[in-house]
Amino acid sequence: MTQVRNPLTGKPDHVLCPPSAAHLASAAAGLREAAAAWRATDRGPALTRLAQAIATDDALLEALVADTGRTGESLLERQIVAGLIHRWVAQAPALLAAPDDAPASLPGIVVGGEAVPYELVGVISPWNLPLLLGMIDAVPALAAGCAVIVKPSEVTPRFIEPLMRLVPEEVPLLLVEGDGTTGAEMVPLVDALVFTGSVPTGRKVAQAAARAFVPAFLELGGKDPAIVLEGADLDRTASAILWGATANAGQSCQSIERIYVERSVHDEFVDLLAAKAGAVGLTCEGGPIGPIIAADQVEVIERHLADAVERGARVHTGGVVEEHGGGLWCRPTVLSGVDHSMLVMTEETFGPLLPVMPVADADEAVAMANDSAYGLSAAVFAADETGARAVAARLQVGAVSVNDASLTALVHEGEKNSFKLSGLGGSRMGKASIQRFVRRRSYLVNRSQGADPWWHNTEKGEN
Ligand code: NAD
Repeated sequence: MTQVRNPLTGKPDHVLCPPSAAHLASAAAGLREAAAAWRATDRGPALTRLAQAIATDDALLEALVADTGRTGESLLERQIVAGLIHRWVAQAPALLAAPDDAPASLPGIVVGGEAVPYELVGVISPWNLPLLLGMIDAVPALAAGCAVIVKPSEVTPRFIEPLMRLVPEEVPLLLVEGDGTTGAEMVPLVDALVFTGSVPTGRKVAQAAARAFVPAFLELGGKDPAIVLEGADLDRTASAILWGATANAGQSCQSIERIYVERSVHDEFVDLLAAKAGAVGLTCEGGPIGPIIAADQVEVIERHLADAVERGARVHTGGVVEEHGGGLWCRPTVLSGVDHSMLVMTEETFGPLLPVMPVADADEAVAMANDSAYGLSAAVFAADETGARAVAARLQVGAVSVNDASLTALVHEGEKNSFKLSGLGGSRMGKASIQRFVRRRSYLVNRSQGADPWWHNTEKGEN
């Protein structure tokens, strides 16, 4: 029996209830059966009802708050998920419509086609944004006509039950509780899989998916850099970076986790950032910074902090994990005097740490930003957009916020691929993302009349 810890009290208050392997297999079979009717129906009305229910349901919100210990981000998750359902309902039909028949390069041949949804899509998701990351891929898959089974993290399972109560009967969506065992059991049961989580688990999932011959789209970790060049509005930049590094207490893949500042403005920037960071309180004191959701993450944050301090980093704000009422918090922690010998500059921290390193110029900033195993996203701040975009174009990442930070958290329209260890597969964002859940079938029709076309003349050896 696995007990689930409450992030605000540190005490267990939920017992994980995973399905048996047999139950999971029969649930997957049931979803497959439901998929045919779902594919044939107008899916918009049922999905719209789901969006409306999610947007207003208090039980769902309460469970999400219990899962994560924070309220502001939970409200935002609920709002973003409702919004994304409405967006996919509006966009999916046109994006998946059969193309008009068109003449091929071969005379007399016409090419048509259609999108054929996978029958059953699997989603395995992490604990940091449980509702959003459970649904961000499930929704376009449902809109494409697939049935979907979701296995959220064992750290945050409480939202599953109230969410399932909101799913209209005709929508073939099932969320199940469970840990890595359930996740692993799910892989061979589905036709396509989206995994969001850490690189080590992503590797295991990709290997299991390859064995099962299931395409796997991997959305993995990040170590997002921000580059601040001379001429940038330092006050605005400090506010943007502080937001990008501390939203959800830094527990987001696209959090700003390292900051490179041109030497001429470095000291002024660190002072500004430290002044702003020092004024941001914890939710237990009425501020915006929520608790560390997963107890295991505390060890990572403390290890990165201790390593940085031991190697000579200076702590301007925060710097320790604090316990309040059994929950564990970390204040926004501005560090200077850091370099790439430190874990805090090279490994994913997943906490509200803001290490700032001086660089000589844009070239060195780009070299440092690219000196990473990860390639999720980045931010560039400069005097003008042209200069910032020229730097952005040199970064080995899939999305760059220009004169702002972490915009991919809020803006899902831009298509992006993960570079390096941050992931594999088609874009999760933008219009292309729905194409991950369908295969394309072409119809190649010979409409010519009369004499055989030349490629039928096998006996003359002309082909
Ligand atoms: P994790 O890898 O520990 O777990 C993720 C999910 O995988 C959980 O549901 C877990 O139960 C499941 N799992 C574990 N072992 C499995 C196995 N063998 N087979 C199948 N499923 C298995 O990740 P986490 O700690 O929950 O999440 C934090 C990580 O997620 C961070 O690295 C973060 O950067 C990453 N993340 C990435 C994105 C993105 O969009 N790229 C978004 C959010 C989080």
